[in-house]
Amino acid sequence: MRMLDYVRAKRLLDRYGIRSVRSAYVRTAADAVAFAGGKAIVLKLISGKAVHKSREGLVKLNLREKGEISAAFAYLARRGARLKPYGILAQAMAEPGVEVIMGGNTDKQFGKTLLVGLGGIYVETFRDVTMRLCPINRSDALGMLLDLKSGKIITNDGKSTAMIASLLLKVSRLLVENDKIVELDLNPVIVREGSYDAVDIRMMVV
Ligand code: ADP
Ligand code: MG
Repeated sequence: MRMLDYVRAKRLLDRYGIRSVRSAYVRTAADAVAFAGGKAIVLKLISGKAVHKSREGLVKLNLREKGEISAAFAYLARRGARLKPYGILAQAMAEPGVEVIMGGNTDKQFGKTLLVGLGGIYVETFRDVTMRLCPINRSDALGMLLDLKSGKIITNDGKSTAMIASLLLKVSRLLVENDKIVELDLNPVIVREGSYDAVDIRMMVV
């Protein structure tokens, strides 16, 4: 099992209509400044050796000025020396919203499973997640959202229910149609009324 390269994983999500923030590897601070083009960006170090990026100080949020982008790039490049092979990923800064975890796993006996719940820093605190076997249909997706104690928060009081249900169906399809994907973690998908973006993709393939 190995981690699929971030940009390749993102392209696969694109093919299934699963939205994620604009992302590209940057090789120099100048690349990162050009990627930003005056807008706020995020820089993160991606390495198989660093699973919890933010806990390890490898996620630099909300960078806008040339100086702060360059300083963050230099810091991450320095940290990368011990985490080779690594890449520095630039991303657009997503609009704020509720952080949702969505993912998939492979059960030896039953096959692909799908998970959704409250994401971000709350995953471990509240453990409010629910699971189904894939493939799911629309009523399964709606049922998953009803299972969650935080369902109202995640769905913006129901206003995003249909959107999130469609998203769950897409993730289920991706898992079922790609045998080689044994694990998927979208944590978080940032959800607001009428829109969402996955900002962290971890795809394990065999
Ligand atoms: P990890 O889960 O490995 O610590 P993430 O990529 O999930 O790293 O980043 C940690 C947190 O930083 C996320 O939960 C989210 O709150 C925030 N974050 C990460 N990327 C973005 C982005 N592109 N836009 C806005 N917020 C982000
Ligand atoms: Mg994450």
